[in-house]
Amino acid sequence: MDKFNVRMRASRKQNHISGAEKIVHADDLHSVSAHLIERALKHENGRPDAINISVKLIDTPIQTLETLPIKTIDAEEVSTARKIAQKLLQDTGIGADMARDAIELLAKGAAPDNTVMRGAVILDSETGHRLEPDRYRGVRASTMDMTQEASADLREHLKAYGLADRFSSISEALVLATKVARMDGTIAELCWSDDPNNTVGYVASEQLGFVRITNLKPEGSNIGGRIFFVEQGIDLESYIDGLEKGPVLINKINKTNF
Ligand code: AMP
Repeated sequence: MDKFNVRMRASRKQNHISGAEKIVHADDLHSVSAHLIERALKHENGRPDAINISVKLIDTPIQTLETLPIKTIDAEEVSTARKIAQKLLQDTGIGADMARDAIELLAKGAAPDNTVMRGAVILDSETGHRLEPDRYRGVRASTMDMTQEASADLREHLKAYGLADRFSSISEALVLATKVARMDGTIAELCWSDDPNNTVGYVASEQLGFVRITNLKPEGSNIGGRIFFVEQGIDLESYIDGLEKGPVLINKINKTNF
């Protein structure tokens, strides 16, 4: 049966409030769209004055993936957390200077005017050059979702580790990180949220898994971002095309190495 990518974006006075996306059967389009509108209206960041729903037929094969394994490293202070992130990036083969500079870039706001980008930086892991065509927008990974079964399984898994209240943010980040880590050309990802209440960030790669690090940014800060470190010489156009449009459905949770 045909599947569709449904996306929701909510804003107020043209400022982004919330967004979400799903991959669903045609039969579920009505209920899922209604649910996303409901979610936009009730978002804790405020009531939107515009909600956009887009529905697109997925006309290429959907890649089904198991998540990266999840680990958590507790750091008491931001400086310690950032050293841990730097070390993890170095473990994937990224140079010490580049790893440090990348963390500094996110910390100051990676857009040219030191604000938060809408999407991610793409960084050549050999030269350190930024490859994303637009340094304000960055590149947005999209067309990805998790099955209901995997989602229920993740919820139970997180509950067992006292992380039930973190389900939404972990689930969304894990889907994105899994898609990005499994793409040809990706070496690693570094992320922390722009949500002032979420100070947990992560480093992810196929080899490391999804490694959450507490206190990766100061409490109350609204500066966040993402960096995708890539191999030198990738075909940038097809990499970006895959990030944006390659459909990925997560259907299994990897529960090792927590
Ligand atoms: P969030 O974890 O949603 O707060 O996002 C943290 C940062 O990651 C944002 O400030 C953006 O710079 C970036 N970002 C958010 N969503 C995406 C996405 N779908 N693809 C790439 N980068 C993103």
